[in-house]
Amino acid sequence: MTTLNHIELTCPVCASDFSSQTVVATNGHGGKRTDFHERASGTQPLPFFVHLCTQCGYAGVTRDFDEDVALTDILREQVWDGLAPTVHEEAPSGSLKYEHAAKVAEWQGYEPRYLADLYLRAAWCCVDEKDTEAERYFRRKAAWRFMDALADFDNIPSEERAVITYLVGELWRRIGDERLANEWFERVVAEIVDPVEQSWVMMTAHQQMVEPREWFD
Ligand SMILES: [Zn+2]
Repeated sequence: MTTLNHIELTCPVCASDFSSQTVVATNGHGGKRTDFHERASGTQPLPFFVHLCTQCGYAGVTRDFDEDVALTDILREQVWDGLAPTVHEEAPSGSLKYEHAAKVAEWQGYEPRYLADLYLRAAWCCVDEKDTEAERYFRRKAAWRFMDALADFDNIPSEERAVITYLVGELWRRIGDERLANEWFERVVAEIVDPVEQSWVMMTAHQQMVEPREWFD
C-alpha cells in the first residue's frame, strides 16, 4: 500500500502557499514493466514525488521548494510565460507535474539524464492516466535526453551505460519504432563492462528483439 502525507509548500516563483501530498511509504508489489516502471499495489505513488504550484505552474521535487532556492528573473519569466497558461486544474495530473518539473529543470540547465528521468516518469504517469498519445510524446522526450546523456561520456558511469542503452531501445520499442529499438538493443553488448553482473541486461535486450515482454518476471 502507498501511504501519503500532506505537506505545506511555498512557491519560490509566486510566493503562494499551497498543500501537496508526498509519499511516506510504498511497495513494489505490483510488478515491474520492462521499462523499469515499478507498480505498487493500490494507489500509485509516482504522481506524489513531485509538486506543482497551480498559481504559476512551477513544479519540482520537494527540494525545489526549499527556502534557499534561488531563481533567476529569466526563469520566473519562463514559468509565467510557459507554464502558468497551461494550469487550469486544482488537482494537476502526475504527467503534467512531471512535465512542468522537467521544463523548469531544463531551463535551469540540469543534466540530460535528470531531465530524461523526469520525462520517463511523466510517460509512466500517462500509462496510469490511459493517455497513450501523451505517453509516446514523453517517451520520445525521455529517449532523446537519455541519448544526449549517453553521447557525453562524462555523464553516465561506464557500469550504467549498458542498462541505459537498453532502456533507450525499450523506449523506442514502446513508442512503436522497431528499427530504432533494435538498433539500440544491438548496441547494448558493446557497453557491457561486467559480463557476469550485466548478463541480465544483455539477455533482456536480446529477448526484447526476438520476443518482447511487457513485464519482468
Ligand atoms: Zn507559484
